[in-house]
Amino acid sequence: MTLSLQGQVAFITGGGSGLGAAAARRLAADGAIVAINDLSMEAAKKVADELGGLAFAFDVTDSTAFQNAVDTCVTQLGRLDIMINNAGIAPQDAASKMDLVMDNMGKRMAGNISDMEPTNYLLDLSDENWDRMIKVHLYGTFYGCKAALKHMQPQRSGRIINISSVLGLYPAAGAPHYSVAKAGIITLTKSVAAEVAALGINVNAVCPGYIRTPLLTPFSETMMAGITMRIGKGRLGEPEELAEMIRFLAGPESEYCTGDVFSVSGGYTG
Ligand code: NAD
Repeated sequence: MTLSLQGQVAFITGGGSGLGAAAARRLAADGAIVAINDLSMEAAKKVADELGGLAFAFDVTDSTAFQNAVDTCVTQLGRLDIMINNAGIAPQDAASKMDLVMDNMGKRMAGNISDMEPTNYLLDLSDENWDRMIKVHLYGTFYGCKAALKHMQPQRSGRIINISSVLGLYPAAGAPHYSVAKAGIITLTKSVAAEVAALGINVNAVCPGYIRTPLLTPFSETMMAGITMRIGKGRLGEPEELAEMIRFLAGPESEYCTGDVFSVSGGYTG
């Protein structure tokens, strides 16, 4: 039997955990050879060894390290067909204010809007936190697109899949930096897709809803209950459910999809 991604090479950032690891397993199951990036070699190697792939430890905010790793991957494996820009971090600050948010919600429901207390999300957001969030997500995706196109353009084929978020579509109070970075990824995706569509390269964005991964660990039980109330399906998604969308966008079935944005959210309404 010939697998549909047989012989194709996929590079996955943040592939040592959660969605990235699930995507790597799904692509490998259909025959892809995977290169796994993460911040630590230990995290990257664990998944790469499991799947017989390569491991690369670097920070996606380092454009030179990113390009070098992708170049090395192509030297060792001969080509690059799929780039998944997935590495990401959670907005930690939101969790610490949950009691105040719940208190305010009670006041709002009782019609006492003027009694609500300021949450100060934006006032308390440090310049450093803002910078890091934009850098990891938006700059990391920019560097990933660049590093991939260097090899995909001469090849005249390729798939770039950028992991955004439903917060890029429905910005959330408490996560302005994350929402902006994820919205930026959608716009970057559309711009790059328009540039390279005629070259046989498809570039798409995936907007996961709330998926059960270590990214959500800092969220309190109350916060998770509040989030789950806004999910039509009434539950979190599983990484494997998201990986099916990534597999679709990586494969021949999605040939006509480019510059497009795909939510996998269980009916999240923002
Ligand atoms: P995760 O924490 O399980 O995995 C993220 C991985 O990225 C980790 O292994 C981490 O070490 C790595 N990483 C972080 N910063 C990095 C950097 N600068 N360079 C290289 N690697 C780095 O989280 P996840 O849920 O699998 O998240 C994957 C992507 O999905 C992220 O972009 C996240 O924003 C997005 N997302 C997740 C959810 C969700 O509910 N889990 C929802 C929407 C979007």
